[in-house]
Amino acid sequence: MKAKEAITSFVEQNREAFIRVSDGIWDAAELAMREYQSAKLLIDELNKHGFTVVTGIAGIPTAFEATWGKGRPAIGFCGEFDALPGLSQEAGNHLRKPITEGGSGHGCMHNLLGAAAMAAAIATRHYMEEEGIPGSVSFFGCPGEEGGCGKVFMAREGAFDHLDAALSWHPDDLNSPWSTGNSATVTLDFHFYGQAAHASRFPHLGRSALDACELMNIGCNYLREHKPPNTKILYNYEYAGTPRSGVVPDYACVRYSCGGANVKDTNELRDRIIQVAEGAAMMTETQVKYEFLQGTCEYVPNLTLCRILSDAQKEVGPPQWDEADLELAQRMRSGLPMEQIRKRDPFMTGLAPEEVPDWVEQNPLSNMVADMLESTPVVIPSSSDIGAVSYVVPTAQLAVACKALGTVNHTWMTTAQGKSSIGHKGMLTAAKALALGAVRMLEQNAWEEGGLFRRAREELMKKTGGKLVLPIPDSVAPDVEEGVVL
Ligand SMILES: [Zn+2]
Repeated sequence: MKAKEAITSFVEQNREAFIRVSDGIWDAAELAMREYQSAKLLIDELNKHGFTVVTGIAGIPTAFEATWGKGRPAIGFCGEFDALPGLSQEAGNHLRKPITEGGSGHGCMHNLLGAAAMAAAIATRHYMEEEGIPGSVSFFGCPGEEGGCGKVFMAREGAFDHLDAALSWHPDDLNSPWSTGNSATVTLDFHFYGQAAHASRFPHLGRSALDACELMNIGCNYLREHKPPNTKILYNYEYAGTPRSGVVPDYACVRYSCGGANVKDTNELRDRIIQVAEGAAMMTETQVKYEFLQGTCEYVPNLTLCRILSDAQKEVGPPQWDEADLELAQRMRSGLPMEQIRKRDPFMTGLAPEEVPDWVEQNPLSNMVADMLESTPVVIPSSSDIGAVSYVVPTAQLAVACKALGTVNHTWMTTAQGKSSIGHKGMLTAAKALALGAVRMLEQNAWEEGGLFRRAREELMKKTGGKLVLPIPDSVAPDVEEGVVL
């Protein structure tokens, strides 16, 4: 009980500072791998609390580690802070109103994610000092989750290797420990090179790069029927050839992402897609070159640690909503048909599937914490670069309610709620649960033989061997541009 009270009151005493960081990141709304102001906001706050900061991990200017304390046990909190293009939206407005037309916005609430993980690191550090708990605590500034896979490059550099536990969370519309896996993914550009020619006069001399893309897409759409279940193929044109209709395009580019339940399935599908591309090039007498852009392995939850986080989340409880929050949440989803809201995925709600539609309809905000699922055959079809962390360090995560039930990530409705009382309460609740979970782990003196961190490491070794396996070759480098954080 003592730890819960100490952490809760520390987070509450510092709530204005933590909200300031979160709102500052929301305002900056910087895109993946270019989060200079956002990283600075986090670093300035961590500096105030005596953390030592190292920036530029893996050659990414906005990737950093802020550390307090020394040696083992070592706990790290992973925080993200990148926004999404096109999702600019006024805070708290339930009607579509971008602040900047076409501008970026925090449609995945990474402003809250980064600020809460930072707050958890700070709260843990103060508790460790007060109680004389040995070890170290780190906050990892992890850029480019929405594109760029910052953590993959950080993990490849060994940035997380000294940790006994990596903890994180994601803003959601419910409160639940995150004990399920998600997918591995890889993204490639296929560049086709043909022969330009006058399309009417000398079409026989042209070799169309666009035709090659189209045939590749047809091939991949037929491949869909024969790919393994739980895999996916997505594509879009990056460049569909010259806009002049009288020209046979000599260059076109199509971007493919594919994913599966694990990195092995993903790599097999990736190789089949490459074969289709080569077939399309052969058919059109063009050349194809493929370029790896990014990729990550799947998330492998560490259940040994997740159980501790789950208990901490239960102890802290859900965010405490007031009338104004409920009214805002109801307004935020007023633009969505109730039928759509009722169809919310039952996964991680902690309820039986048949109970979910009524529960979601009756509660604009989640007021309960789900039990941890010990085993589930379901793999969430989305991906995150936290997968790379989970391959090398025992990793556990939470989902915490920061928005109206039934509103989904990667929409302007989520941007609108990321700088509101609802979002702030979710962020502070996440900080408390993460810090309490970390402290509970440290209090078990868990590094000893048979202790928690040993058992967590054994689970990791059984599941991944502790070695990073990626769907991209070593030659792929992070997509960064010059810039300075400080
Ligand atoms: Zn996200």
